[in-house]
Amino acid sequence: MTHISEPAWFPIALRLDDVRVLVIGGGMIAANKVRLLLAHRAKVEVIAARLDPEMQRWEEDGTIIHVASTADTATLRASMPGCRLVYAATDDRTVNRAVAALAQEMNIPVCAVDDPQPSTFITPAQIHRGLVRIAISTGGAAPVLARRLREQVESTIPDGTGELAVFMQQQREHVGAACPDISRRRQVWETFLDGAGAQAARRGENERARAILDDIIASTSTRGEVWLVGAGPGDPDLLTLRALHLMQNADCVLYDQLLSPALLDRVRRDAELVFVGKRRNKHTMPQEDINAELVRRAQAGQRVLRLKGGDPFVFGRGGEEIEALLDSAIPFQVVPGITAANGCAAYAGIPLTHRDCAQACMFVTGHARADGTLHLPWDSMARPGQTVVIYMGVSALPALCTQLMDHGLPADWPAAIVERGTRADQRVLTGTLGGLAHQAAEAGVGSPALIIVGEVVRHRVISPA
Ligand code: SAH
Repeated sequence: MTHISEPAWFPIALRLDDVRVLVIGGGMIAANKVRLLLAHRAKVEVIAARLDPEMQRWEEDGTIIHVASTADTATLRASMPGCRLVYAATDDRTVNRAVAALAQEMNIPVCAVDDPQPSTFITPAQIHRGLVRIAISTGGAAPVLARRLREQVESTIPDGTGELAVFMQQQREHVGAACPDISRRRQVWETFLDGAGAQAARRGENERARAILDDIIASTSTRGEVWLVGAGPGDPDLLTLRALHLMQNADCVLYDQLLSPALLDRVRRDAELVFVGKRRNKHTMPQEDINAELVRRAQAGQRVLRLKGGDPFVFGRGGEEIEALLDSAIPFQVVPGITAANGCAAYAGIPLTHRDCAQACMFVTGHARADGTLHLPWDSMARPGQTVVIYMGVSALPALCTQLMDHGLPADWPAAIVERGTRADQRVLTGTLGGLAHQAAEAGVGSPALIIVGEVVRHRVISPA
């Protein structure tokens, strides 16, 4: 096995105004670099026997200096002194490497395009929004991956971020004078960024943004708040952009067993993670205690993220939590998530409604009461023409199936169970009301799992490989 020792690329940002940069090559690869350099007001000199039309235009209007020559050693030696950077950007790797060797000899930083080995610097993929600049690099190892990551990051940056940065720059002195204490200053800006002020600045409403900023500076205590956020059923790609944003800004996160580790991985590193779910003795923290904890932390000024599996308002007790917050006058936001029914159905290929057989879909809880009984609207559940999705129904599965049959559905009525839906280890069992409980027991299906009852199960479709 060959061992490749990777060079560690150290990211820096260079000021290029009026800096002489030498580019070797006159084709498209070179033009891409020249365009970038010109955007940063560099003085670009190009060595090439021929120039592509775009480059020719730059030459004609005096934007670049053209040395009409091949990249021979004599020409390079004559042109390199006084240059601060060299780009070897021909489509010939051997030529690029020779250029790089010469530049290194003359102690000038050099980038051989798409060839990190002879390069002493690389130019990362960039996202550019006014003053904001984000560079993404794989150290030249995988430029296509870097570009893909750029797209992903780009889509998470709200519109107006450039305007927001300019506004914050303009207000820096003002905030500095009003809040000499650095941690207070940081708090003010964080509160500003999370609220309506930042939104106003993004839209260019600077007066309104300034008024909100001044309100924040004037308020003596920092008020905490609670964000009640749905994290979806497990696959982190199903998080909303808003959930991700709040996960990156919370001081602490209260979560329970429904949250997969892959989701918690997306929480800001220095946020405090507080588990409020089932302990090893299997006792759930009472809901009142969770409510009290949310209130206590918010009153202490924390930005508290209550992260819930699925959607907070679907069997998530989110309603009770916000009532408790309201009673204590704590500001809150609720962020919806993809509920288990949607996530499991999509990832299992079962449409929840289908024109041919389901005109309605019902979500019910299969959680038994303390005395072990299930109180459900059996008559309205045991009907054709609809889909019934049962949450928290694993333990009661045999009783659920029996009841539905006792209330009129046939034993061969389709039913499915989706265990750990949307996660890497998702399992789907399809069968009938008569057989599903046995199948699930055989397979050892455990929580979390979702039961889907109805003819839509027959319409299950799995993508061809
Ligand atoms: N608020 C959540 C539901 C909480 S109740 C939501 O909107 O999804 C907990 C039940 O949700 C579990 O017992 C199970 O029935 C279901 N559930 C949650 N995540 C699941 C998953 N990844 N796969 C299957 N079922 C899930």
